[in-house]
Amino acid sequence: MIRISIELGNRSYPIHIASGILDGLGDLMLAYFDPDVPAIVITDRNVADIYLKRIEKSLTAAGFNCASYTIEPGELSKTITTVSKVYEFLIDNNTPRGGVVIGLGGGVVGDIAAFVASTFKRGVPYVAVPTSLLAQVDSSVGGKSGFDHRGQKNIVGTFYQPRFVLIDIDTLSTLPTREMKAGMAEVVKYGVILDSPFFSFLENNYEAVIRLDREPLIHVVAECCRLKATVVKEDELDIGARHVLNYGHTIAHALEACTGFADLLHGEAVSVGMLVAARVSLALSKCSVGDVRRQERLLQKIGLPTRLDPALVPQLIKHLPADKKRVANAINFVVCTGIGSAELFPITPESLVESMMKLNP
Ligand code: ADP
Ligand code: ZN
Repeated sequence: MIRISIELGNRSYPIHIASGILDGLGDLMLAYFDPDVPAIVITDRNVADIYLKRIEKSLTAAGFNCASYTIEPGELSKTITTVSKVYEFLIDNNTPRGGVVIGLGGGVVGDIAAFVASTFKRGVPYVAVPTSLLAQVDSSVGGKSGFDHRGQKNIVGTFYQPRFVLIDIDTLSTLPTREMKAGMAEVVKYGVILDSPFFSFLENNYEAVIRLDREPLIHVVAECCRLKATVVKEDELDIGARHVLNYGHTIAHALEACTGFADLLHGEAVSVGMLVAARVSLALSKCSVGDVRRQERLLQKIGLPTRLDPALVPQLIKHLPADKKRVANAINFVVCTGIGSAELFPITPESLVESMMKLNP
């Protein structure tokens, strides 16, 4: 079992990563909580169908009194209505302040469960059990919670760190392949912005990872958690150093917004966004043609989209962030400065679009 520490002073917590540890959740909980506190599992229907019975059995065997609440799968569930229903479930179950909320599922479940945990009775303990690749390598590290409102993604939320995270990579065996590949976009992102040897490892092992070979898969999940941990440690509240994690995301968010979040999975939008960012970096002489080609080749071999439909560009512009208060209306765009490093570069939406147009999209 790999144990990674997220060092955040008195909010520090470990991430436990291994194959086949899901049924050990109950025992692991005993290291953190008294079994006389209730454990409330929040999950979605897809994940509940496959894993909820096992989780309930493990918690009950360890002596926990457990209850579970299942939401509908998908981003459309990330609403205040869902949050409200979970609050009602907790109230109906007389959940005390010490009651532990467990988020079992992908990023949607994680965001909702963590938000509820951070606000119910001004905060109850939270445990994350991410089951999608995206959640294991990204959303479960760093303590962001929240939901969407008025069509704005993650517009309401909190920072709230879990007591611990349990990652069983075996849960990825039931994840649809398309979701697995989409998660790989964030994995590739870590290599591009932070770690050149890790990027090379992915070039050589991406097939084994997608095939879910245990050793390379555990290595990849652990490396991503470690890399994200180093950035989060520097900037828990996302006001500086953490911005590099937005590589590919300015375009991805705009693309998701203008396609109504319907056509592309988040990771797929990030893949397209990274290639645009790479080409913009090249146009700004921040990286080499080779750096762009390597990203493009790896993402394409994984089976991710890398081409931006030129017909979408005019709509895309409307969804680029515009902060009128900022000098010259500049966006803090993340550019690649060679495989393994990135920096923020202030650029106006106009000149961003101009360099996007100039490049073959
Ligand atoms: P994210 O990609 O941010 O994790 P979701 O929470 O929407 O987004 O999860 C993606 C989809 O995968 C959802 O339909 C969810 O129910 C499903 N899912 C998550 N984990 C698993 C799993 N281990 N096995 C099967 N389906 C899963
Ligand atoms: Zn992302």
